[in-house]
Amino acid sequence: MLFVLRKGASSSALIEKIKMSSASYRHIDVDGRVVVVAWPDKLVESISDGSVELKVKVSTPYQLASRAWRERTIVSVNGVEIGGKRVVVAAGPCSVEDEDTVMEIARAVKRAGATMLRGGAFKPRTSPYTFQGLGARGLEILKRVKEATGLPIVTEVLDTRDVLVVAGYADMLQVGARNAQNFVLLKEVGRSGKPVLLKRGMWMTVEELLLSAEYILLEGNLNVVLCERGIRTFEKGTRFTMDIGGMVHAKSQTHLPVAADPSHPAGKRELVEPLALAAVAAGADMLLIEVHSRPEKALSDTEQQLTIEDFEKLMHRLRLVAEAVGREL
Ligand code: PEP
Ligand code: MN
Repeated sequence: MLFVLRKGASSSALIEKIKMSSASYRHIDVDGRVVVVAWPDKLVESISDGSVELKVKVSTPYQLASRAWRERTIVSVNGVEIGGKRVVVAAGPCSVEDEDTVMEIARAVKRAGATMLRGGAFKPRTSPYTFQGLGARGLEILKRVKEATGLPIVTEVLDTRDVLVVAGYADMLQVGARNAQNFVLLKEVGRSGKPVLLKRGMWMTVEELLLSAEYILLEGNLNVVLCERGIRTFEKGTRFTMDIGGMVHAKSQTHLPVAADPSHPAGKRELVEPLALAAVAAGADMLLIEVHSRPEKALSDTEQQLTIEDFEKLMHRLRLVAEAVGREL
């Protein structure tokens, strides 16, 4: 059950009543008002208080992520707004490899119209024998590239022990597919107060993804963007199956913006463009795209990173699709 309080109203009387009912509760601040989540519903159903403007019995297991109490959230990442009319493109290499390469890619993607830079310093790799990322050194590189280009950075944090340090460099923290149900990490990125790009685990239902988002929201951090990046199915022609239907469903259930990463499900360059176009046509608020100046030399995801030339072509076509569906790029 959600209780949305009047602007400026104190929550103490309501919370006293909830405590008396023996229900569990949490409260967070949202745009100058307190929102109290209390559960289970049956213990708090009959509670009312003069401080409450809106009381919502949410029928889904996720509460704060639900659209039942809030139409839309726009997540602002250092001035870049995600969830408005403009589709935000974050582009850059899979991994941060060296400063010259990241600088070259960042300048090129900015010129082509990207408004954020992606790039992993801490890499989640299936095999421990492959490139694991530069770690803190990679963050320093991202910082210098940001200073030079002005592009806000989205980069992955793999471990609770690194949240503070990564949050010191990143404008947006990425929680990768493999950590999407690492609940301790979700709480920690929530507490950091930084905007979060939450990827969907390849085994997860949309409901499970929204419940993962709920862990971040419960820390009072509403700056969450959900990212479809492909799920495991029986299909072997692609690396993962990009679940456009799931993305559209997620968007209908939540006020949070939704993003799509067409690079990881594609697994090969030729498929990235059609998947990106499809995602924008279907309503994605943000795209995360891997681009490399020399993909064949890249230290990770060689097959799927777009060349700069491919990316420029993609941006041109994306603009047409965005306009066709009432958005802009
Ligand atoms: C990435 O975007 O760098 C990444 C590792 O993606 P995912 O977690 O979706 O595999
Ligand atoms: Mn990658």
